[in-house]
Amino acid sequence: MYKNMPVIALEEHYFDRELAALPGYGAPPPIAKKLYDLDGERIEAMDRAGIDVQVLSHNAPSGQGLGADGSELIRRVNDRLAELCTRHPKRFFGFAALATADPDAAARELERCVKELGFKGAMLHGPTGIRFMDEPFFWPVFERAQALDVPIYLHPSYPMKAVADVYYADYAKAFPSILNAGWGFTVETATAAIRLILSGMFNKYPKTKIIVGHFGEGLPFLLWRIDQALSRPGQEGIKFREVFCNNFWLTCSGNFSTPALLCCMQELGMDRLMFSLDWPYVDNEDGMNWVKTLQINEADLRKFMYANAQRILNIP
Ligand code: MN
Repeated sequence: MYKNMPVIALEEHYFDRELAALPGYGAPPPIAKKLYDLDGERIEAMDRAGIDVQVLSHNAPSGQGLGADGSELIRRVNDRLAELCTRHPKRFFGFAALATADPDAAARELERCVKELGFKGAMLHGPTGIRFMDEPFFWPVFERAQALDVPIYLHPSYPMKAVADVYYADYAKAFPSILNAGWGFTVETATAAIRLILSGMFNKYPKTKIIVGHFGEGLPFLLWRIDQALSRPGQEGIKFREVFCNNFWLTCSGNFSTPALLCCMQELGMDRLMFSLDWPYVDNEDGMNWVKTLQINEADLRKFMYANAQRILNIP
């Protein structure tokens, strides 16, 4: 609790032992240890910082790293997450992992996770292989999310190899974070979000709810320019700002910047912003100590710390 408010964090990651054992799912030892920890230090660290609820999601690349035969494995992953949430019904909720290489199976799994396991939505980690999720091939996932009225969280994953080779390889040795949270993640996820809007998916499924972390991966700061450029002659014509401000919600995961918060408040309004940490990549205290510096009124703080998340994720 903070100032008598519950604190809900919704970009909090973990490792499933079976999925994370596959090639391409590793993490450095101190991070991996925290990702594998479910019932132990994780909850103690939440208690120390005053975090009431973590909405758990598998670490990247989650189901997006699997092939078309990944559906059975991902069911086991989601079942195990549901067991964990059942053990701690007041502390943990789940975002489904989806093996999107088979979009129809992924849509069915999303429905099973929401209706049978009580999950609050799904998290997608970058492209499926080298295919961005805006391809109509993947739209069954968004169609089902809209039908179930649950959000899809667009989370970063590493840049595709071709991009990494051209854009980052020469600096990646001295500055490995250029590939991930230092810049690469931001570009990947912002690109995924822009492409999703350009694809017309929201015309077909206009009530789709998308969550983006890290205060929107730079998009709020650039919203005016992107919207203006996409309105210039020669474009097909798209209401970029309207879609972004109607269908997207943002969290502050791993980006505890007051100027970024103020930009998001001005562009999207307080009803679309939610607190999050990005455990275990940042410490819970980093986020909570930042919150304690915020000069915003109590009603807005309540929206930010829990009320918006309760509404969007249907958390009681
Ligand atoms: Mn994250």
